[in-house]
Amino acid sequence: MKFADLHLHTKFSDGTFSPEELVLHAQKGGLSCIALTDHDTVEGCASAAIAAANVKMEFIPGVELTAEHNDTELHVLGYFVDTQNKKLLAEISKFQIVRQHRIHQMVSRINEMGVPLDEESVFALANCKSPGRPHVARAMVKAGFISHMDEAFERFLKKGRPAWVPKSKISALDAIELIHQAGGLAVMAHPGLNKTDEIIPAIVEAGLDGIECFHTKHSTAMSERYMEIADKYNLLVTGGSDCHGFSKGKPLIGTVKLPYERVEKLKAKVAERKSATAVS
Ligand SMILES: [Zn+2]
Ligand SMILES: [Zn+2]
Repeated sequence: MKFADLHLHTKFSDGTFSPEELVLHAQKGGLSCIALTDHDTVEGCASAAIAAANVKMEFIPGVELTAEHNDTELHVLGYFVDTQNKKLLAEISKFQIVRQHRIHQMVSRINEMGVPLDEESVFALANCKSPGRPHVARAMVKAGFISHMDEAFERFLKKGRPAWVPKSKISALDAIELIHQAGGLAVMAHPGLNKTDEIIPAIVEAGLDGIECFHTKHSTAMSERYMEIADKYNLLVTGGSDCHGFSKGKPLIGTVKLPYERVEKLKAKVAERKSATAVS
């Protein structure tokens, strides 16, 4: 049987693996297909596609967008997006600027708390256009201000803590539209984490294609619940580990194994949409 992991991050956002390392770990994890879904960037997709092709692994270009609907945050995954699509690139470059500004704000607050974290050290460590909170946490550990990344979130960075700065979000409806116009499928990420069930009907109405039923942080009961929801609304089913690199000494990649037939259904939907737009 063939398996896929459709939720993965690299150094191009807040993961720690290069695309090449990611593919290496995917191989070790026994995967035949992977999708790269970095936050607000598709930059890693070109190298990941080459690395995957070198080992005859199937690669799906993707992205993860932070969105909201009626003040509820949700993450929207885009699969099979055209990574050269002009509108997609223009929009995500705006999100990247906002992310960089957010880092500036978080570091200022940390400084106000008496911790002399250097903003440049965060940007240097992140070394990407899509920096996020994990980079701030890693830079704090590296500078010796704290001993573990979790401490950074607990004391400073998580919601409700003094250095927490709200993230700006695209509306879910716009995120779906943006992904569609780039030829992609829009999938709701880890619904069990965001507790967003009440908004599902509205975003299905807006054109949501699928739902991530299988995720590292979903219990079996959650996965079953979202499979039922997928059935009810005729949504495609996806799954992935949301690997950001090593987690407690091991990478998560491959720990969530999506049967490949689910990927075939995604591909059929992309093909169907392409032929529909070609006719009209
Ligand atoms: Zn997410
Ligand atoms: Zn993710």
